[in-house]
Amino acid sequence: MKSHARVVVIGGGIVGCSILYHLTKLGWKDVVLVERKELTAGSTWHAAGGFHALNSDMNVARLQAYTISVYREVQEISGQDVGMHLTGGLNMAATPERWDYLKAEWARHRVIGLETELVGPEEIRRMCPIVDTTDILGAIYDPKEGHLDPSGATHAYAKSARLAGAEIYRHTRVIELTPTPDGGWQVVTDKGTIRAEHVVNAAGLWAREVGHMVGANLPLIPMEHHYLITEDIPEVVAAKQMLPLALDLDGEIYMRQEGKGVLVGLYEHNAKPWALKGTPWDYGQNDLLPPALDRLTDHLERGFRRFPSVARAGIRRVVNGPFTFTPDGNPLVGPVPGLKNYWSACGVLAGFAQGGGIGLALSQWMVKGEPDGDIFAMDVARFGDYATPGYTTKKACEFYSRRFQMAYPNEIWPAARPTKTTPVYDALRGRNAVFGVSYGLEMPLYYAQEGEPAAETPSLRRSNAFPAVAAECQTVREGAGVLEASPFSKYEISGPGAAAWLDQLLACRLPGPGRIRLAPMLSPTARMMGDLTLMRLSESRFMIFGSGYLQAWHMRWFHEHLPASGVELRNLSEDLFGFALAGPSSRELLTRLVSEDVSNAAFPFMSARDMEVACAPAIVGRLSVSGELGYEIYVPAAYLHPLYSRITAAMEGLAARYFGVYALLSLRLEKSFGIWSREFSRDYTPTMCGMSRFVAYDKPTFIGRDAALRDRDAPPPRKLVTLDIEAVDADASGFEPIWLGGRLIGYTTSGGYGHCIGRSLAMGYVDTRVYDASSPLEVSVVGKRRAARILTEPPYDPAGTRMRT
Ligand SMILES: Cc1cc2nc3c(=O)[nH]c(=O)nc-3n(C[C@H](O)[C@H](O)[C@H](O)COP(=O)(O)OP(=O)(O)OC[C@H]3O[C@@H](n4cnc5c(N)ncnc54)[C@H](O)[C@@H]3O)c2cc1C
Repeated sequence: MKSHARVVVIGGGIVGCSILYHLTKLGWKDVVLVERKELTAGSTWHAAGGFHALNSDMNVARLQAYTISVYREVQEISGQDVGMHLTGGLNMAATPERWDYLKAEWARHRVIGLETELVGPEEIRRMCPIVDTTDILGAIYDPKEGHLDPSGATHAYAKSARLAGAEIYRHTRVIELTPTPDGGWQVVTDKGTIRAEHVVNAAGLWAREVGHMVGANLPLIPMEHHYLITEDIPEVVAAKQMLPLALDLDGEIYMRQEGKGVLVGLYEHNAKPWALKGTPWDYGQNDLLPPALDRLTDHLERGFRRFPSVARAGIRRVVNGPFTFTPDGNPLVGPVPGLKNYWSACGVLAGFAQGGGIGLALSQWMVKGEPDGDIFAMDVARFGDYATPGYTTKKACEFYSRRFQMAYPNEIWPAARPTKTTPVYDALRGRNAVFGVSYGLEMPLYYAQEGEPAAETPSLRRSNAFPAVAAECQTVREGAGVLEASPFSKYEISGPGAAAWLDQLLACRLPGPGRIRLAPMLSPTARMMGDLTLMRLSESRFMIFGSGYLQAWHMRWFHEHLPASGVELRNLSEDLFGFALAGPSSRELLTRLVSEDVSNAAFPFMSARDMEVACAPAIVGRLSVSGELGYEIYVPAAYLHPLYSRITAAMEGLAARYFGVYALLSLRLEKSFGIWSREFSRDYTPTMCGMSRFVAYDKPTFIGRDAALRDRDAPPPRKLVTLDIEAVDADASGFEPIWLGGRLIGYTTSGGYGHCIGRSLAMGYVDTRVYDASSPLEVSVVGKRRAARILTEPPYDPAGTRMRT
């Protein structure tokens, strides 16, 4: 056994072996993998081995498509057969709503280049004669779906990595991980110790335990999962070619051919977690869990109706095996916040669809310092401390039991809610607030109108929230609206080195004391790392505001670049809560709460200061997301409720009301203001997303400067635009294709109804080589092409005078 390695990967399942291979592929050869038993001895050996590229997150779908493409590569390099059957796959809809959903998904596949097709019942029966299509409306057919041999695929990765110089130690268990002063790790195994620069936790079923070795609580749990393999089925015996994978989305059952019979798997509603107190170290290859068919009876009956010949065939084998789930079903990938050189690659529920993509993205991150694309949907830093074991169990069970249920863009699943609330939660509930969740924290989406239920109906189209949101938008444009702004992240940066550090970290010029600036933060390759708001309260005290759900992600980046001394960084996101006031009457409202002069001359746009607001010590900034005159007020959490009462009293006599995030999103679309994870993400550079005007290119140094200069000097391949769409009862929601005649020229990033201008709007990226703002375009909305045109300026107050006066 080596005594030193650049990387030690812990775990020889499909994911660990893929990472080992990809590290060698990117040039790191001094890498080893340590496996407790034989390769595949976790979840991998008993998997059904199915794979597919479809995923509701487009970047995850891209990585899944990559995974499928890499199997042939490792088969060729290693000579190890992966047992690939590229049968194609049918994802079937049995309700009109589901069929609409599939049509919308099909349209999105054009954007990422998936060659899927929409097929009708007859075509489904032709491809898969054992499906009863009585109530089936259609399916998405993906020719790139199929199944493979889990063991063959794992060994193909492992052998390819070995051929490139990697070493694999089987029957070697990691029992302890100790950090070394140089930022590396002592990897203590039962066969000796390896000193490693980096450690990767790919320990699958034991990833929690390998996390605990370094004090990390990774939010994942194993869940039981069944599949059944039938005896031979006459239709399958008679079939001239292998049956495709068939997924009955509404019946929540999947099927693929196995020998001359089929394999049928189920996601039952009464999901069962396994080994909540920890995965036993002696669980391993050839161990399975006792079948619990009584739990599956309802589902099986539905499955038998969809695949009647399965009901007639005998059952040859029942498999009940555990694999891991996270609160949202996506994996936990990347550097674990708070730890140096400790990487996570676990919580992977679809190792055969995602393993290659995870291996590639993580290896890029380790070797090049960042993954090529935006993989936030998989990033371990998307969760915070709120994702406790109890929370994780509730959410993972919910995800498992709803695995194939429709996920509406406006739906927030109920498990583990509320997890975190602010002190005004009950008061706002009393006002009929309908809540959503950001980073575990409940936040008002809108306020249901009198007589309406305080609940939004999940829909692909405009929901029952529409009239309430319209009224809220109108009030903000004409009077004053009050938004609970608590969910935003807030960081305080202070100390003698604060200004110098921020000048290096952020691409903008620093504001002077008492001023605010929009602050793009870039990666070394000039990809967007943040669209932050920077407030300078004194020479050496700053506040940064951003999206609340990015806290762990931001903090990880900040800490990676923080100097050893001279700068104090504090995440105050849950210490400071507050309200935003927006609208032409918001100055009058603020005046009623403060004794200071907040006139335009004394407190102009983009200024900030410490201020007493209604007896509370507050930080107040004059800024605007709605495009109207506006202020944000942040106070220590204990002052929030009294502040709420005083704001409510001060609203008397003004045309004022509380409003929620939905209205804010509509108002910002009318102003063509982008937001993170939609218009801004690591996929874009400042010139693409229109942020270049906030970049101080003439600063001598900042992270990403060289690449930003190159980006500025080369024409961007795509460009952010605002679109006006002739939509009827639904609006764009993101990643819909934009067409110029028959040509795909871009995609939307977000959409919604502009209530005050009375138009359906979207933002999106278009190919700069072909677009011409005067050309008539089309945008697919819920699968239907709608006429659209590019707006050359923001549809509301293009000069921006309203927020400045
Ligand atoms: C019944 C069933 C059906 C499934 N069907 C599919 C399917 O059709 N398609 C699909 O994509 N996925 C499927 N899955 C899920 C799939 O099996 C997992 O996504 C995948 O196996 C996860 O791989 P992994 O490498 O992350 O973890 P694992 O396979 O659990 O591997 C982790 C490895 O780490 C080793 N290890 C742990 N701790 C240590 C330590 N301290 N020291 C050394 N080694 C250690 C373990 O021994 C193990 O070999 C199925 C799972 C089950 C149970």
